[in-house]
Amino acid sequence: MSIAKPEPVVAPWARPFWDAAAEGRLALQQCESCEKYIFYPRVACPHCGGEQISWRTVSGRGTLYSFTIVENNAPSAFIADMPFVVAVIRLKEGVQMLSNIVDCDVAALRCDMEVEVTFERLSDNFVLPKFRPVSS
Ligand SMILES: [Zn+2]
Repeated sequence: MSIAKPEPVVAPWARPFWDAAAEGRLALQQCESCEKYIFYPRVACPHCGGEQISWRTVSGRGTLYSFTIVENNAPSAFIADMPFVVAVIRLKEGVQMLSNIVDCDVAALRCDMEVEVTFERLSDNFVLPKFRPVSS
């Protein structure tokens, strides 16, 4: 018997992020006043307090800022994925995102390497943005 992985709890203002992921797009909020990108989704800009915020489809490209390889875990739905990589990705748009690095040799991962978004279906309801090394 396999245990189901937990699904994200989605605030109403974050819904467009998940709708975009379901369509294979990475979407971020951008402030109309200061033009800075925002992540995670919010109701007001954390930089200037502006409330005029739009959703933009972005490149999905960035660099690996930091990561850890999970090789050991308490019994959970994630056991079958081990070893898996939990990483902070610094997107070209200037925001950081916590995700997983997939489709990779974990021993070859290095900070600052280029990564790009890829999408993994979690369930009938959710597709998760994940990242993989850019093949050169
Ligand atoms: Zn702003």
